[in-house]
Amino acid sequence: MLKKVVIDPGHGGRDPGALSADRKVKEKDITLSVSLKLGDLIKRSYPDIEVIFTRKTDVFIELDKRTEIANKNKADLFISIHVNAATARAATGSETFVMGADKSSSNFEVTMLENSVIMMEGEDYATRYEGFDPNNPESYIIFTLLQNAHLEQSLEMASLVQKHFNNGPIKVSRGIKQGPLLVLWKTSMPSVLIELGFISNPLDFKILNNHANHDKFASLIFNAFKEYKQIYDKDYSNGESTALKKVIPQSESKSTQDTSLKKVRKESETHYRIQIMAVNKILRSNSPDLKGRDANYIKMGNLYKYTIGEYPTIDMAKKELGSIRKDFPQAFIILVKDGTIVPLN
Ligand SMILES: [Zn+2]
Repeated sequence: MLKKVVIDPGHGGRDPGALSADRKVKEKDITLSVSLKLGDLIKRSYPDIEVIFTRKTDVFIELDKRTEIANKNKADLFISIHVNAATARAATGSETFVMGADKSSSNFEVTMLENSVIMMEGEDYATRYEGFDPNNPESYIIFTLLQNAHLEQSLEMASLVQKHFNNGPIKVSRGIKQGPLLVLWKTSMPSVLIELGFISNPLDFKILNNHANHDKFASLIFNAFKEYKQIYDKDYSNGESTALKKVIPQSESKSTQDTSLKKVRKESETHYRIQIMAVNKILRSNSPDLKGRDANYIKMGNLYKYTIGEYPTIDMAKKELGSIRKDFPQAFIILVKDGTIVPLN
């Protein structure tokens, strides 16, 4: 059950975040306003859910401190709220980030901007973030070793946020992005970073600067949260929906409907598997995406998590991981009990 959510209003205190063209409107004020409204909506509808804010006032909080607040409280979901800025004034729209190593695209401008906050955190930032320098692209190599066990759920939440934003005051959706964002890096729960819109764009700015729209943004994120909670709670209470299933071979699928999928068996013992990917559709065993591997899947929410192997010990899984990562660089080890994924530790 989703019991605890951490809401993280971006920036604060001596870090104003992105600024409007006249420098009078600050990202930190918009993020705080939307965050507090979101928290109110959650508390009002779900009195049993604990809502924790990384800040409730205009104060400076280090990025790693924000993560720590979420981890220490064992939150089930982390929502960081930001406002975008770009040198190109035409850039417009909302986007939601999940943690990822991808620094190849235009996402990098945003991630560098959001990460550069640590330079305001004082001299010791390099040691606290393992030598990370936000402005040196080579620094981002540390993220390639990432194992994001919560990626699918983070993607689920991100896609719900973007879905609801389609009905929002800023209609342009730039979609879901993956980026090496420090504030998401070490969170031990599903986490997203929402960029509401561009303060640097005249139209977005007009919307962002109107307080009535803060209520709208908050209620759209709340709608996404509500839906996410339904999926999340179902996944964790209903073993059936997450049972391990075999990928259907092409020949069999011709004579069998998708609805009559056969479960190979309900795994009764705890074992390790290697997850190679998660997608929102059932793949055939000859799908090029599986690269000729013999895979099973576990359905969680809207996602099918594809896995390889069955290992009684984590060491045996680790032995195989290297060769599997040649085909699937994002592969990681999961623990399966009674056909469902359980936390590794
Ligand atoms: Zn920001």
